[in-house]
Amino acid sequence: MIAHPDPASLPRRALLIGDQRLDSASGGTHTHVYPATGKPTADVPLAGVQEIDAAVAAARRAAPLWAGMPRDQRRDCLIRLAHLLRENADELIRLSVIDNGIVVSTQQYGPHVAADLLLYNAGWTDKIGGDVIATWPGDALDYTLDEPYGVVAVIIPWNGPVYALGMVLAPALAAGNAIVVKPPELAPYAALRFGELCLEAGLPAGTVNIVPGGPEAGAALTGHAGIDKISFTGSGTTARHILASAQKHLTPVQLELGGKSASIVFDDADLDAFARLGLAGIVNNSGQGCINPTRLLVQRGIYAQVLERLSAAVGALSVGDPTDPATVFGPVIDDRAVTRIMGMIDRAKADGARLIAGGERLGGDLADGYFIQPTIFADVAHMSELSQCEVFGPVLAVLPFDTEEEAIAMANDTEFGLAGYIWTENLKRAHRCARALVAGNIWVNGFTGIPGAAPFGGVGESGVGRLGGRHGIQEFLRPKNIWIALD
Ligand code: NAD
Repeated sequence: MIAHPDPASLPRRALLIGDQRLDSASGGTHTHVYPATGKPTADVPLAGVQEIDAAVAAARRAAPLWAGMPRDQRRDCLIRLAHLLRENADELIRLSVIDNGIVVSTQQYGPHVAADLLLYNAGWTDKIGGDVIATWPGDALDYTLDEPYGVVAVIIPWNGPVYALGMVLAPALAAGNAIVVKPPELAPYAALRFGELCLEAGLPAGTVNIVPGGPEAGAALTGHAGIDKISFTGSGTTARHILASAQKHLTPVQLELGGKSASIVFDDADLDAFARLGLAGIVNNSGQGCINPTRLLVQRGIYAQVLERLSAAVGALSVGDPTDPATVFGPVIDDRAVTRIMGMIDRAKADGARLIAGGERLGGDLADGYFIQPTIFADVAHMSELSQCEVFGPVLAVLPFDTEEEAIAMANDTEFGLAGYIWTENLKRAHRCARALVAGNIWVNGFTGIPGAAPFGGVGESGVGRLGGRHGIQEFLRPKNIWIALD
């Protein structure tokens, strides 16, 4: 039986505005449920319009203080925050598991990756500047200044709050912006602790505000006149609502959205290396990861062998208690996700896909939690729902192909373009395919985290803009051009 979190071990307050922690708010409450037990943990207060207004006002007061802070001091605040994330990693990981039920063996990377991102971006604080522009005709000096936007609204999903906050806040803060974060009501706990650590690190009160809430709070924030830029991570459906709110004040928007990323396995691939990661698409976060390789395209000569290896690997997965370090596969987020995912499984069967593993909700000791068996479908039709739509759950679609051209065409024949994966021992083919795939991030013969210096983002339905590296910093800066007559 999976232990339910002790309510006494949860943060009593859920909102952080300026330096004030609030335990009640005007947006009502949300009964947060621990996905592994299906039982409530607490009634979490939700931000309403009143708290969104207060958080934006606090951020507007803090913005000039943070942007005006000497660069070395801003850098040192971010370095201190990185160290605090590491020192408080155990607590952040514990809260993250309660937030969304994702297994501790995956969550353990969150605070450390966020700390690395802060350290990388801290290095930019004293390198952000501008350019000198050639002038002609006449004697003049023309130069640019890269300036922060002011106040950035940050909307994150539930599937990795600490990681998501690291991805967005590290560059946005390094660039000199103040922030209002709206975590989802489904995962409110770790984000609040992240905000408290920002205060402990010496960021001026109001530089980072945390206001958990649902769609109403999100709409109030993204349509607010006091917001200068929006960073949204979530689904394409919500992105369209955000764009509708943002048009009110023509607020610029950066979007990190979903994916249906193809993993192409050629018949010259190192199948032992591939086999270790072949189930990544459905094991990572129980399939609830934007970049997961959820569409496996396998060259026909090795198709049967790959299917055999995948079904054997599914049987060896340890499924269950997310707090147990040995568990690799946990529950999905909530009962609505169970209904949605089981619906897609049923429709895949009806579409003629061949179920080779899983396909059921787990019972027994796990019956109260939101556990769905790791599921694999073979012979999935290329234009079917399972091949084209994001499941955001543990369901892998496997499709055969014959030629490289066919594989690339199938991989690109989707509305998404977040990631692409290539498995081959042929160097020329690897480069050829990496160039041909229409996606923001390509992995060849492996699948690891993204270095802080690398740009991350998608094309098409997968998003607009980039986080990470110099592109990520640039996302949160806008250039001002200055021309001065010298004659
Ligand atoms: P979602 O779009 O339902 O919600 C995301 C956030 O938007 C939540 O905080 C939610 O409360 C808020 N929201 C909902 N309606 C809103 C509105 N009208 N106005 C403003 N905010 C609103 O997505 P989700 O279910 O939380 O996350 C899953 C999706 O996120 C998947 O599609 C996944 O691929 C994507 N995702 C993308 C990345 C990436 O970096 N590209 C990372 C993680 C998740």
